[in-house]
Amino acid sequence: MNIKNMVKFILNGKNIVFLTGAGVSTASKIPDYRSMNGVYQGKDAPEYLLSKTALKKEPEKFYNFVKYLYHPDAKPNIIHKTITKLQDNKNVAVITQNIDELHDKAKTKQIVHFHGSLYEIYCQNCFQYVSANEYLNNMYHTGCDGILRPNIVLYEEGINSEVLNHSIEYMQKADTIVIVGTSFQVYPFAGLIYEANLKANILAINQTSLNNSFIFEEYIGDAVDVFEYLVKSF
Ligand SMILES: [Zn+2]
Repeated sequence: MNIKNMVKFILNGKNIVFLTGAGVSTASKIPDYRSMNGVYQGKDAPEYLLSKTALKKEPEKFYNFVKYLYHPDAKPNIIHKTITKLQDNKNVAVITQNIDELHDKAKTKQIVHFHGSLYEIYCQNCFQYVSANEYLNNMYHTGCDGILRPNIVLYEEGINSEVLNHSIEYMQKADTIVIVGTSFQVYPFAGLIYEANLKANILAINQTSLNNSFIFEEYIGDAVDVFEYLVKSF
């Protein structure tokens, strides 16, 4: 479908949930870590480097990879900002796979960090929180020498039940669900679609088709184009 109709469908919504993925952050110059395969660690796949096993058995390797995911100076782009603007006259929630906190920086009020956040970092020994700055300088907690880790969902780890319940609540309330910048293949995130209200309009905006029978309308192309049009339409 074309941009104009996609925007019309979004603006028809009163309770809108955006399900966002890596494609929303690329316009803020944050690369999808799946595209980083092999670049920094030779043969190891990101799926291993970001696993619970890697953190436990090879914490230095984990740290050296995870450090590349930090872009503390990245700024929200037109997609994040337009979602925030929609809050003025609609009930808006975001459920994001992104761990970069760009929706927070854009000041969206209702956000579920489905996969956690890179900027919440704690010591696995004493459970104290430290700043990203401290973590990026040293993987060990100063004083106690415990190994620090970001509060992100690693491979082999499950989603926190509070996060799941929040997400399901938003999905059930929404009359409009907009999937943006994700091929929507990773579970349990992709399974959220089964929680949608039966009357909800489910829309998708992505570079490639999601090939998902739950989706009512789909725009294939750059999400930035849609949000540039959207922000001019209200
Ligand atoms: Zn500690």
